[in-house]
Amino acid sequence: MRFATRNSLPYIIAGSALIITMMSWFFTSRSVQLYNAARFKTFTDSVHDDIEFRMKTYINTLSQTKGMFAVTPYISRASFRDYIKGLNVETQYRGLQALGVVEKIKSINLQSHISQARSEGFKNYNVWPLENRSEYYSIINIEPMNDYYRKLIGFDLYTEPVRREAMEIARDTGLPSSTKKITPILASDIDGKAKAFMIFIPLYKYKSNVSTVEERRNNLVGFLYSPFRAQPLFSEIFNSLKNKNAIDFEVYIGNELNEETLLYDQDNNASFKDKKFNPFLMKKFKLNVAGQPWNIVTYTLPEFATNSYYWIPWIVLMTGLLVSLLLFNIMHSYGKHAEIEKIRSLELESLNLKAQDAVAARDEFLSIASHELKTPLTTLKLQIQTMVRQMEKGTFASQPQEKFEKVATVFNQQLVRLTGLVDNLLDVSRARAGRLLLSKEELNVTEVIQSIVEKFRLQGIANNTHITFNAPESIVGLFDRLRIEQITENLISNAAKYAPGKPIHVRLSRENNHIKFEVEDFGVGISDENQLKIFERFERVSETSQAVSGLGLGLFITKQIIDAHGGSIKVASKIGHGSTFTVELPIESSVIV
Ligand code: ADP
Repeated sequence: MRFATRNSLPYIIAGSALIITMMSWFFTSRSVQLYNAARFKTFTDSVHDDIEFRMKTYINTLSQTKGMFAVTPYISRASFRDYIKGLNVETQYRGLQALGVVEKIKSINLQSHISQARSEGFKNYNVWPLENRSEYYSIINIEPMNDYYRKLIGFDLYTEPVRREAMEIARDTGLPSSTKKITPILASDIDGKAKAFMIFIPLYKYKSNVSTVEERRNNLVGFLYSPFRAQPLFSEIFNSLKNKNAIDFEVYIGNELNEETLLYDQDNNASFKDKKFNPFLMKKFKLNVAGQPWNIVTYTLPEFATNSYYWIPWIVLMTGLLVSLLLFNIMHSYGKHAEIEKIRSLELESLNLKAQDAVAARDEFLSIASHELKTPLTTLKLQIQTMVRQMEKGTFASQPQEKFEKVATVFNQQLVRLTGLVDNLLDVSRARAGRLLLSKEELNVTEVIQSIVEKFRLQGIANNTHITFNAPESIVGLFDRLRIEQITENLISNAAKYAPGKPIHVRLSRENNHIKFEVEDFGVGISDENQLKIFERFERVSETSQAVSGLGLGLFITKQIIDAHGGSIKVASKIGHGSTFTVELPIESSVIV
């Protein structure tokens, strides 16, 4: 359970960090959105307010100027100029270009009107276009005057239909009236295609009654007007705006929104409808300017996104993801570290167990060794005590010859056994110290093994063990005679020990440049697991060790000898069916070729 918690901890922490990241991302996106919406709204509101305010101011200025004409219908050019100068049109009302006066002239008065104007300084004055009409609406004055306006003096605005429409509405309503979109009269104008509009205010006869349309028409004496060019007017407005970065606005005169009605486009590109992007934010609103509906559109340009902190949520997101990942990694490697610590302690535990096993095996060996050593010693001790007693009684010398021979045989057997045990112990300590030295001689290995087999055959008659030896040829090579005998004895004696009363097959053959020596029995067999252990020091495996005496050293020494010869030993065995030990030793020759 503790493990599961530790394993899932990195996921829980990284998951929580992810949730916090997503929430932060959501809230920062929302804040940025709100911030930008507010930014856009401020812009749109100021466009609305600014345009409305300025246009009202301009119209008011026109209305105030009309006041001059209310008292004195015919004012001199000079006083008009002074009045306009006083208004400071160029600096105070920068969008308002000029103020003009239009006079209504009946055809019968045309000539006197022309000579009057000429006498006032306009030597070439004429009313144009020249065609005969019942009445004329000629521009008689414009202030501040400039070359372009000078050329316009005398032009009958009523002959141009768009202007005429606005003049008629102004005349009939008595109110300021704006034209639709117009272009300048004179193509010679450098800005001949400039988008513009005009606002007219009607001038009626002094103190006349103008409460009905009829009366207004009859009493009209002229117009006061102001021409507006869209470019200077709106760029002036735009420049005074706040938050205008990456935001555009367009102004249309009229109800339709198309190229015809487009009066102004701040970025001077195609109108918003033709632009190949979907504005992120957009607003349309209407204003009424001197009777004309104005449609104004504000919208964000594509750069708005990059200029508007939209990257902040993404930075938050990326940083959050990175932190989550880092947290996960840290927690994960911490978990791994803990895991490694655990594995280490398990390893230590198993090493400890192995060491304990080794100590136990050594203790067992010591008790077995002392027991094994004690057996021949006890036999010898008993024999000697019997002999001592006989000597004390004086009967020792009178013992029959056979009795002495029997005692000598027992002595010999026990001494051989003791010597063997001591030799084994010595071999183990030599092998451990790496001092198991070989004294090789040229040897007929077939004969050596044959003689050991014979020895066992003789003993085997007593044990009822049948032992065969199969060796197709005599094999001669460089070997240590005593060690070869030791190997053979160990393997055959093990077979005899662990397969009593069963046949033993010993085989010897040559294969390429090594000998193959096999000892096969049909005894208890060794389990797969134990097959790995039996060549170790002091290892006696469970299936046999209880019943049969031994030190667990024979196979260890055998392997050491075989290793020293540069050979190998392996066992094939099945529990209950017997074992086959196979030894391979390289054949070395003393003959140097
Ligand atoms: P031991 O003195 O106990 O026989 P060895 O080193 O000769 O010691 O053998 C190690 C162990 O291998 C033995 O205790 C025995 O369990 C097992 N063993 C060896 N040879 C055989 C065999 N031919 N059949 C079954 N078990 C064997």
